[in-house]
Amino acid sequence: MAFSFFGGIHPDDMKSLSCEAAAQPFPTPETVVIPLSQHIGAPCKPLVKKGDQVTVGQKIGDNTGLCCPVHASVSGEVIAIEPRPHVGGTMVPSIVIRNDYLETLCPDITPRESIDDLSPEDIINIIHEAGIVGMGGAMFPTHVKISSGIGKVDTIIINAAECEPYITADDRLIRQTPERVIGGIRILMKAFSLNKAYIGIEKNKPQAIAALQRLLGGSSDIILEPLRTRYPQGAEKQMIQSITGRQVPPGGLPAAVGCAVFNAATTAAIYDAVYLGMPLIKRGVTVTGRAIVEPRNFIVPIGTSFEALIEACGMKENPFKVLTGGPMMGIAQFDWSVTVIKGTNAVTVFSEADHMDIKNPRCIRCGRCMEVCPMHLMPLYMYQAERKNDLARLDKLHIMDCIECGCCSYTCPGKLHLVQSFRTAKQKVRDASARAKA
Ligand code: SF4
Ligand code: SF4
Repeated sequence: MAFSFFGGIHPDDMKSLSCEAAAQPFPTPETVVIPLSQHIGAPCKPLVKKGDQVTVGQKIGDNTGLCCPVHASVSGEVIAIEPRPHVGGTMVPSIVIRNDYLETLCPDITPRESIDDLSPEDIINIIHEAGIVGMGGAMFPTHVKISSGIGKVDTIIINAAECEPYITADDRLIRQTPERVIGGIRILMKAFSLNKAYIGIEKNKPQAIAALQRLLGGSSDIILEPLRTRYPQGAEKQMIQSITGRQVPPGGLPAAVGCAVFNAATTAAIYDAVYLGMPLIKRGVTVTGRAIVEPRNFIVPIGTSFEALIEACGMKENPFKVLTGGPMMGIAQFDWSVTVIKGTNAVTVFSEADHMDIKNPRCIRCGRCMEVCPMHLMPLYMYQAERKNDLARLDKLHIMDCIECGCCSYTCPGKLHLVQSFRTAKQKVRDASARAKA
């Protein structure tokens, strides 16, 4: 039985722009730029040097501690290891590979027919070595999520909501290859030694729901939960509440209420790693937006530039904004040479007609932002505190619980840049806490 969560909004999902475009493999580009930091945790150190030849799927960066290795997505020559623009807005050390178009596969890649002989430790090790992170955008190392959850987690949830407007990459993934998602779920069930899992999916994806139903047949170990279409249904805490009725405490992790949530694309990547031996070197990306001539879905080699993706779909006009991700949680990009990383699910290109900013944004104290905040926060007071740089008040207002969903900004008639203000505020609080610790 599905539960509900507080707040949320119903934006026009704009998924019709790209949802019928089947995901096609994107041609491997002439060069790929693979950032050494594509996860939460310590950046990788390069395992190759300039001039080395690499093969498809070869591990080219790794580190100890909380880290996830990175792999070559094409075969060819390493032509540089240097800082390059990153979707996060900074310069990040990256490995640049010139494609030799031979697609020489790394000899370490070996398929497996069955998971019967694998222990939970074996599965965690395979997932770690494959460099799998949360592909919904969080980019937390998946092997750590599993190993830290074993013994605490009694409920596995697969997040197939894809509630962010415009994005259809997971929808296409499920429609085209549901067996990878279901296979990945069974691997996760084995890793956690659990015999039940849930898939949460919004009802606005009827073909994806039908594809999963066809594959699941009458099986009772994986329960499909079609959920009401309401943003942010796919936020981790809201998904847990919708499926189980449990509420993750403020500042807590899903494991605190016995849950572990995995994105549908992450689950498919787990299937590829375990059965095909293939590390995470490609992912589904939606290229969409009103400034795009032909919105499409692609399976994209990690390290492909946004420029190449936009060029492949065509642009109608000079865009107002290019985002990595969708309009609610996406980050504006000023340099289109940034490349697709493991957490990139979309490139959204807005036209001037989408420009909604006004000259003098002002709060009219309507209170709508509080009505829609799914985290029960008080955005208008948080905004005032951030303007005054009042960190103590921001802390009292639980700024760190803001999931940056953008519901408040979307609904604000004063057009205040609320979510940007909260991102800044959270960084200020983090910096202050780091200074205090030092
Ligand atoms: S929705 Fe906007 S205008 Fe209304 S109270 Fe919140 S910040 Fe102010
Ligand atoms: S961005 Fe933060 S404050 Fe605004 S609605 Fe979402 S959780 Fe609430």
